[in-house]
Amino acid sequence: MYKLIIFGAPGVGKGTQAELLAKKMDLFHFSTGNYLRELIKKETEIAKKVKEILEKGELVPDDMMIEIIKEALINNNRPNGFILDGFPRTVKQAQELDKILKDMNLQDIIVIYLKVSHEEILRRLLLRGRADDSKEIIEKRLNVYEETTSKVLDYYKSKNTKIIEIDGVGEIEEINNIIITEINKNYYI
Ligand code: AMP
Repeated sequence: MYKLIIFGAPGVGKGTQAELLAKKMDLFHFSTGNYLRELIKKETEIAKKVKEILEKGELVPDDMMIEIIKEALINNNRPNGFILDGFPRTVKQAQELDKILKDMNLQDIIVIYLKVSHEEILRRLLLRGRADDSKEIIEKRLNVYEETTSKVLDYYKSKNTKIIEIDGVGEIEEINNIIITEINKNYYI
């Protein structure tokens, strides 16, 4: 069973690669960003609050994200496993995820760390044109990544979690095949 986390700065291609991996390996793909973008279409108070956070490029509170991920994992019934995309984004989320996975007997995750230069990220995000892709919000999101989310990698390093570092520049399919080769090299379960 594959237990994967795809990690990296905004704009490195996490969503694209996660979707492809999920399709090819029959995994449950859960993107917290996609989930939240669906959620904010609703007319609820929570939706309004979350929308404001996304529009500022800030992070949704950990407690809420942890509940969302817990429910998603419990309701996932793909026997081949899962790939989380956009979670964890804080050390607190990573710690809570560890507890959730331990309770579900789903240890030994692999982190796929996609790396792309700062300049290339800016170029890609400006091209993408999503609602939260204006220059100002992009800068905010990259700051949040540097200040907060990048620490998640240090957390996994300190725990000796398997981290596969992948160069995110190149053809989508080519990068995807490299990821699959690396995953299979590292999976003994
Ligand atoms: P993404 O599609 O992964 O780039 O996520 C879009 C936005 O959703 C982010 O800029 C955050 O505002 C919010 N978001 C997604 N995942 C998380 C998370 N794990 N924790 C907090 N906020 C999140």
